[in-house]
This record gives sequence, structure tokens and C-alpha cells, in this order.
Amino acid sequence: MPELTTKGTPPRGRFAPSPTGPLHLGSLVAALGSYLNIRQAGGVWLVRIDDIDQPRSVAGMDRQILDTLAHHGLESDEPVRYSSHHQADYETAVGTLDTNGWLFPCSCSRKQVRQSQHGIGDTLIYNGMCRKAIHQTGMIRSYRVRVPEQAITFKDHLQGLQTDSLPQTVGDFVVKRGDGQFAYQLATVVDDHVQQITEVVRGSDLLPSTGRQILLQRLLGYHQPEYLHLPVVTNQQFEKLSKQQGAKPINQDQAGANLLLALELLRQSPPPTLAIESAEAILKWATEHWHSNALTMTAKVTLTTEN
Ligand code: GLU
Repeated sequence: MPELTTKGTPPRGRFAPSPTGPLHLGSLVAALGSYLNIRQAGGVWLVRIDDIDQPRSVAGMDRQILDTLAHHGLESDEPVRYSSHHQADYETAVGTLDTNGWLFPCSCSRKQVRQSQHGIGDTLIYNGMCRKAIHQTGMIRSYRVRVPEQAITFKDHLQGLQTDSLPQTVGDFVVKRGDGQFAYQLATVVDDHVQQITEVVRGSDLLPSTGRQILLQRLLGYHQPEYLHLPVVTNQQFEKLSKQQGAKPINQDQAGANLLLALELLRQSPPPTLAIESAEAILKWATEHWHSNALTMTAKVTLTTEN
């Protein structure tokens, strides 16, 4: 993989956990991958608390996550940004989309979208009812962006060339709900812009969101960061480690062992003797030896032991 760098200013990367549950090994792998990739390029690494979805956020989880990261030597170079504190930034972005004619109010419920769609699996594809002004009575349930017919194409530095034909994958998507709640897709694009993020390294579960995010960057006139989607860690049943699936929270008293396992999952072949070193020493070794071309172009990597 070519190095992700920009000329002049140091590149900037980030890790943006949602405070919905404690960090597990899968999140540590994403945090570490983003940290090592930016550090090796001499860049700045930021932690952002992605708490835009307030109802799903758990009180105190932000501190717990930041504390666990700190035990592993992973600390933000700049003050941690909390998405929920920046509603005005999201409102401005929604206003720009509206002024430029990209938004329309939608009164369809989830049920109506589900019933009217021709989608695959459980992805809901919006069928454009309110865009066509066929169904504009009733309360406004959301504000959607008109997606263009032309596919969004981008290069992922690990997963290769990607094409997302948004009318076929999601349709016109929600950026703000009727109750004022902003969507993750919008908030993350605004946050990445405000924080001048130049590379986004995160789990491959977010690859399907990237087309929508690039469209928003283009509509808002933002710079497009480079993308690299890491394989997500799965259990032996090939399910992504997650709070819902029952992944164990990271034991922060075993930082060395956790970092070593995360490095192995990132295919970095750390020497076993590193396990007894401090988190700082392990990160130093890992930064010096980081080679992202050892990563495999797969969406998943499976744990051989239960975690
Ligand atoms: N908050 C998201 C998560 O925890 C990540 C968002 C992002 O990296 O864009 O999965």
C-alpha cells in the first residue's frame, strides 16, 4: 500500500469510538491500526467520541474507553472532540445542503420504506416517494439527501477500488431526523472536515458507509480523506466482535498481551519477547516496524481462541 501522506502539514488520522460499550479486541485493532499508520507517516492521531446517537450512548463509557486506550499508550494528540457538543456544525452543514437543493423533507416511516422496497437482505433502500413529492402529507420524519445516478468511485488503500451506486445500495439517505437528531453519516463527515482528517483507517464494517460520506464531502465542498478499511475481527462463528455479540471487554491490566494479539491480527509478526515490555515500548517497536502491506485484503480476520 502506498503511504498516506499530504504535502506540507503532517497527516492527521483518528479513532472514533461510539460510547455504547467498553472497548473489545476488535476496537483495539481498529484503534491500533489507525494509530500506527498515521504515526509511521509522522502524523497526528486524534480520538473522537462519536456520541451523536445520544440515546445509545452509555453514561461514563467515554471515560472508560479513554482510560482503556491510555492504558495501552493510545492517547489523543489534541483535546478529545465529542460529537454531541457540535450540533451547530451539523446544522450549518444541513443548511448548506438545503440551500444548494440537495435536501428534501420526507414523511415516510421505516415501515413504509420497508414495505415499498425492492432491497436485498435487511438493507433498506429508499424508493424516492417524497423526493417525487408523491407522498408529502403528514409530519416530517426525516430530511434526506438526493443521491445522484452516477456511482461514487474511490480507492481504498487496502480493499482496492470501490464503486458504490447509491440509488441501488441505499437510495436517498437520511442526514437529519424529524426530531432534530443528526445522522452518523453527516456528523462523521463534518467532524472529519473540522478536524482536518487526511486519512481514515477503520474497520471494514464501515466500508458500505464510505460512498455516502464521500458524496456528502463532495456536496459540501470538503476535502476527501484517504481511506483504508481494516479487516474486522470475528469470533470462531465468524461474527464480528461486538457488544451485542458478547465480546469480552478488554482487560486493561494486560495491555502488553492485548497489544501483541492486536498486532498479530494486523499481521505484524511481533517478537513474543515484546509481551513483557511496557505499552509505550511495544508501540514504539510497532510504529518502527509497521508495514501495512502485510494486511490482507479481506473483510474479516478470525480469532483462533475465544475472546
Ligand atoms: N463510531 C463508529 C464505530 O464505533 C466509527 C465511526 C468511524 O470511524 O467513522 O463503529
